[in-house]
Amino acid sequence: MERKVALITGSARGIGKEIALTFAKKGDIDIVVADINLDDSKATAIEIQKLGFSGLVAEPFKLNVADSASVTEVFKQIMDKFGRLDILVNNAGITRDTIILRMKDEDWESVLDINLKGAFLCSREAIKIMSKQRYGRIVNISSVVAFMGNAGQVNYSASKAGLLGLTKSLAREYAKRGITVNAVAPGFIKTAMTDSLPDKVKEEMMGAIPVGRFGEAQDVANAVSFLASVEAEYITGNVIHVNGGMYM
Ligand code: NAP
Repeated sequence: MERKVALITGSARGIGKEIALTFAKKGDIDIVVADINLDDSKATAIEIQKLGFSGLVAEPFKLNVADSASVTEVFKQIMDKFGRLDILVNNAGITRDTIILRMKDEDWESVLDINLKGAFLCSREAIKIMSKQRYGRIVNISSVVAFMGNAGQVNYSASKAGLLGLTKSLAREYAKRGITVNAVAPGFIKTAMTDSLPDKVKEEMMGAIPVGRFGEAQDVANAVSFLASVEAEYITGNVIHVNGGMYM
């Protein structure tokens, strides 16, 4: 069986790291760990390599998804190293939360640049490769707040809702080339991004989750892993909600 290559953006830690580990454990996928922080990327790549699967390669890169030159350079290096790219997970994301009257232009711009423009830049490079291969899987990490909204997150929820439009339009453009484009919309997942929320907010959120627990990064990785699989070939332009029933 031919090995596949997966690029997961923002995969040095959190949900992206769990996705990278989950792909690697499938045994036939090489991993591009790409993150704004190269030292963290290297540490995660070493952790993945230590899984010890025969043939497995995990390669660390420094990538700023919001910077066109950085994206182009990393894709060039991926092709030099692996000669192909089968899976792209647009996972890198940030929050700059505050109510709109306190939100600075740079709070809006940095969130839209990384969360939405970043997915555009990486998808554009990936499509060049995948359309030649006539095979590809793109999975965009959106959020439950794209559907529900959330006070204090007009920038973040706009970026995550924008990703859904990108997902559906790109899915239509490349469906005939064997490329699927889908989104996963996590609810409240335990990572550094949510650790910093005040306990009161966490308690309120828990009350809105029918399953009665916060999500684990692995819950998200499981959904991404399915959408990124060969078997998911007839699913495109869709969203899998991973939120414990918080939004139905
Ligand atoms: P996280 O722990 O903050 O991890 C995000 C990763 O992205 C970090 O390694 C970060 O690097 C990296 N990153 C930031 N800016 C970047 C850039 N410009 N280029 C490349 N990498 C960059 O967040 P997470 O909770 O795992 O979230 C992962 C994704 O899931 C995000 O898109 C987030 O919006 C989405 N999501 C999360 C939740 C949740 O409850 N956690 C819910 C819904 C959706 P640094 O650490 O160096 O900044």
